[in-house]
Amino acid sequence: MNKKFKIGVPKEIYQGETRIALVPKMAAQLKKDGHEILIEINAGESAFFSNIEYEQAGAAVIQDVQCLYSEADAILKVQPPQKNVAAEKHEVEMMKQGSIYIGFLDPMRRSDIVQQMKERNITSFALEYIPRIARAQSMDALSSMASIAGYRAVLIAANHLGKFFPFMMTAAGTIPPAKVLVLGSGVAGLQAIATARRLGANAEAFDVRPAAREQVESLGAQFIGLEFIKDTETTSGYAKELSDDLLKKEREVIGHRLTLNNVVIAAAQTFGKKAPILITGEMVKHMKKGSIIIDLAVEQGGNCELTEAGKNIMKYDVHICGTMNLPATLPIDASNMYSRNITNFLRNLYKTGDKTIDFEDEITRNTCITHKGEIVNEMVRQALKKG
Ligand code: NAD
Repeated sequence: MNKKFKIGVPKEIYQGETRIALVPKMAAQLKKDGHEILIEINAGESAFFSNIEYEQAGAAVIQDVQCLYSEADAILKVQPPQKNVAAEKHEVEMMKQGSIYIGFLDPMRRSDIVQQMKERNITSFALEYIPRIARAQSMDALSSMASIAGYRAVLIAANHLGKFFPFMMTAAGTIPPAKVLVLGSGVAGLQAIATARRLGANAEAFDVRPAAREQVESLGAQFIGLEFIKDTETTSGYAKELSDDLLKKEREVIGHRLTLNNVVIAAAQTFGKKAPILITGEMVKHMKKGSIIIDLAVEQGGNCELTEAGKNIMKYDVHICGTMNLPATLPIDASNMYSRNITNFLRNLYKTGDKTIDFEDEITRNTCITHKGEIVNEMVRQALKKG
């Protein structure tokens, strides 16, 4: 990468966010590439990265966040920009006109941000839109974070379940292993299966994509196929949305399995859409007393009808966990992974060696939302037009 930047990393201000977009190790690598790194003072403290570590990595620690935004050619963030209450300004307003934003952006739901980015001539890249191609795997922040969520979900369940996960032979009797049901065997679901198996539980899993069977079985779990569902995958590798009829049939199959399990990790999603309701209130009523649902789809509305976003509730003696932003509960490794993803992405932007962004590159093209005062992503432009 030839283009030398001033790269700014502000402290995340979204409530409960503990991650940082760039850890000292990656700051040192970007510095080696020839860039200047500006870190807001104490930006890494919730992830246990100190100002001193950043200074040792060659970064400049900046007291005044507005100075950082005014100087930086590129801003790296985790959460989409929002109003900075202390500075009394929106983070997009704080950015230099014509600068670059790289981070999560949620552009389909955040038309306000996209509009502001366009007006301020910001070139923005939404990491959610990294294509599912082998070359982009090292930049795939959505998958890194999904993997953390799947792991953490099982640990939360193990913590709350009034029973052992592993099979135990004790002087006080033999205890069967916990049974874990995973709904949606994508990245989060597969990590949940792997974690549950490592803790000694039995696991079974659903998915609408038949391709998931092999991955589920390779982790030692049983795959429950839904033969009545055909043609379920988009060309981008995501699941298609099911019709109401098919969803109803799927719920019938799931309903029976729910009564047999102690833990449900619900991780079924369709990209950019509301999550499918796979567990109704009526189905919860018939679950074993003391069982647990961890709803990882909560940010997309939840897979369980009873989930309350951001809350842990008890309904019909079933614990339903709607904790949001689980990756933020593992800030050290979540920041390490995210930071590596974003560094690889940044390096790819200018990989051709000249000083302009290579928009011929599929990864760049897919992720770019605004550029030169225009919304350049067709899908986002159409969605925002419709309002
Ligand atoms: P996701 O987060 O969009 O969805 C989670 C899972 O829910 C998916 O497996 C999906 O099929 C499933 N699902 C959707 N509706 C459902 C329903 N009604 N019932 C049951 N399950 C339902 O998916 P994801 O975690 O991002 O991964 C999806 C696939 O893409 C996986 O096979 C993953 O390995 C693959 N992937 C590939 C790459 C790459 O090649 N670079 C990167 C990431 C993921």
